[in-house]
Amino acid sequence: MPVWIDTHCHLDASEFAPDRDAVRLRAARLGVACCVVPAVHAANFDVVRTWAHRHGDAYALGVHPLHTATAAETELAVLEAALAARADDPRLVALGEIGLDYFVPELDDARQQHFFRVQLRLARRWDLPVLLHVRRSVDQVLRHLREAGGSGAGRHAWRGIAHAFNGSLQQAEAFIALGFKLGMGATLTFERARQVRRVAAAVPLDALVLETDAPDIPPRWLYRSAEQRRGGLPQARNAPEELPRIGAELAALRGIPLEALAEATTRNALQALPRLRALLPCG
Ligand SMILES: [Zn+2]
Repeated sequence: MPVWIDTHCHLDASEFAPDRDAVRLRAARLGVACCVVPAVHAANFDVVRTWAHRHGDAYALGVHPLHTATAAETELAVLEAALAARADDPRLVALGEIGLDYFVPELDDARQQHFFRVQLRLARRWDLPVLLHVRRSVDQVLRHLREAGGSGAGRHAWRGIAHAFNGSLQQAEAFIALGFKLGMGATLTFERARQVRRVAAAVPLDALVLETDAPDIPPRWLYRSAEQRRGGLPQARNAPEELPRIGAELAALRGIPLEALAEATTRNALQALPRLRALLPCG
């Protein structure tokens, strides 16, 4: 059976409160060997760490751009202390989820840039890969990465993942040139997501990793239309057990066997997040 890694999965979200353990078990039975659970603010740092240690998963620590609206400045100090305390934790695989979001207009731009800049510096200091949230902000995120990379930065100055990537092919190439992998998830299961599908098919295979971003972005086969929702059905919940089927769709898009796609995306995830290697039986 192929081995899969869900590189971005919010298993600590309240949507999973009723059946978290069962959800993880179903994914494991389908070959999802590891889920990376990123924190979104200081209040869930301990939650994601405890989850990772209890379930054989991995975690990341960081303040999400959408949380910069309410996060106190002290959360950056809390993050710094947590990184210092967990520097040798093999399950801490990245700094994240961090980035910039220009889809939500009411965010204070200076503030989200400040949080992003400081966290990129922390990633450099602790030599950790980063999990990037990039929403309508590709060029601004690239600029921050280049600045924080320092003048001596080489072609592979960074490691990490541009999560839920949906930029252009040219923007994809810019992230790849900086050393990043592109996170691909359920968006590519929708015919109408032309740009994502085009990028997923066109970039080198070694640039792609898989993610569900669960509980968000349900795949086509779970998605409930606006009409269904008006009729009272809530939007479906995405879960890590959907990863192999999303992988199958990506394999079909690229015209390669499922096994080859699983093998490549797992290898790529280990490259982006090197600490995963020690966590996997297959590593
Ligand atoms: Zn996320």
